[in-house]
Amino acid sequence: MSKSKGYAASKAQEPLAPLTFERREPREHDVVIDIKYCGICHSDIHQARNEWSDYQEECIFPMVPGHEIAGVVKAVGGKVTKYKVGNKVGVGCFVDSCRTCAECKRGLEQYCSVATVWTYNARDKEGQPTYGGYSDRIVVDENYVLRMPENLPLDACAPLLCAGITLYSPLRHWQAGPGKKVAIVGLGGLGHMGVKLAHAMGAEVTVLSQSLKKQADAKRLGADHFHATQDPETFTKLKNSFDLIINTVAAKIDWNQYLNLLKIDGTMVLVGLPEKDVPVGAFALTAQRRSLAGSQIGGIGETQEMLDFCAKHGVSCDIEVIPIQKVNEAYERVLKSDVRYRFVIDMSTL
Ligand SMILES: [Zn+2]
Ligand SMILES: [Zn+2]
Repeated sequence: MSKSKGYAASKAQEPLAPLTFERREPREHDVVIDIKYCGICHSDIHQARNEWSDYQEECIFPMVPGHEIAGVVKAVGGKVTKYKVGNKVGVGCFVDSCRTCAECKRGLEQYCSVATVWTYNARDKEGQPTYGGYSDRIVVDENYVLRMPENLPLDACAPLLCAGITLYSPLRHWQAGPGKKVAIVGLGGLGHMGVKLAHAMGAEVTVLSQSLKKQADAKRLGADHFHATQDPETFTKLKNSFDLIINTVAAKIDWNQYLNLLKIDGTMVLVGLPEKDVPVGAFALTAQRRSLAGSQIGGIGETQEMLDFCAKHGVSCDIEVIPIQKVNEAYERVLKSDVRYRFVIDMSTL
């Protein structure tokens, strides 16, 4: 075991504070990564505050959150072939999976039917707790490490590892591209990546946001159209319009209203996670043979494909870099949607 430094919640509802903890000694296939940047995801806050207890078997404290990890390889185990010391690498939401189930074999490790080992607040195959990216370094099997774009700033690429892939995967799966009308609901950390990626894929992109406040931003990010959902006219004007709607909103909104905006055979994909169940009426689906679906991040292969796509199209995140000492303040600002569009912690401040 070796010592690592980080910021952790010592128990639910406690502010994050410095912590020294143990990481495993690197094994043959492990990569030791010096963490340079880590994005702040809304799910870090949910887990650090134990707000998902209905959905998670356990909540492990002390908890070092962070699953948008960007850094540089510091050392490699004897059998590592994919990475060398000095490579720019990333780690996303998970660090291992069973590797043998049907889902893992298809490259869908995030849906592993045995156990996806999440980057933090989980247990590895030895039963040891995993600790995330709000720390100085991390030890990860090379098969769960990603290559970061060489041509883009590392800090602005960190949030691609959760926010980016969360949007990329459903956009690809439901074939966003030229001739397709795609709506992104909510323009936050997830939504702003949805706009950039759908635009880069060649789709016609509409943003549906509460007010017109972010209209200029949306256009700059690549949106073709913008509508305020607080205006009831929006829902009559846009009825039967979209092939695909990606709903990034984590608050309770009336999904039926949005389903009615889908044209025939259209799909609405949920990527935001409201805490309470939302009722869906059958008529909203049967009327135009519509589908309601969900999607959760992406597998390792697809995440690498997304990073390569971003490198090729010059897509990265709009970020506000903070020192780690401001992480608790940043959490409060995330809850107020007071960030455009993702906080990234500069780990040199640790
Ligand atoms: Zn996340
Ligand atoms: Zn599996």
